[in-house]
Amino acid sequence: MTDPADLDELYREIVLDHHRNPRNSEEIQGATHEGEAINPFCDDEVHVKIQLSDGQVGELSVTGVGCSISQASASLMGVEVKGKTRAQIAQLAEQFKSITGGSDESMESDLDVLKGVKRYPVRIKCALLAWSALDDALSG
Ligand SMILES: [Zn+2]
Repeated sequence: MTDPADLDELYREIVLDHHRNPRNSEEIQGATHEGEAINPFCDDEVHVKIQLSDGQVGELSVTGVGCSISQASASLMGVEVKGKTRAQIAQLAEQFKSITGGSDESMESDLDVLKGVKRYPVRIKCALLAWSALDDALSG
């Protein structure tokens, strides 16, 4: 039986790990799509570069500056969307908005660790920033 305090601890560890060691942070060359998003409320920025081939996300880079939630969320997102199609990504984005917006659903991935932000409305923007950048890239 895991008590909720331990669970929070685990979540915090994953978030801190992604913040300290962001995945896919080396900028790729030859991106087919690029996007960015800015959160003026806490000076967060996320930049996304993607190589889309056969409708799937191939190489990608996710870079940025800002608070731990925004940067950890960006890193977690990059890991999750690699190899996925636009339709799969749209579905992930919907689920993620739902869990950070207060739904009691869970996601079967590390993205689930960010659902704790629903208790902190100002941080929801931070968590969603990377997904806005991705949306900007894919719609460009
Ligand atoms: Zn932030």
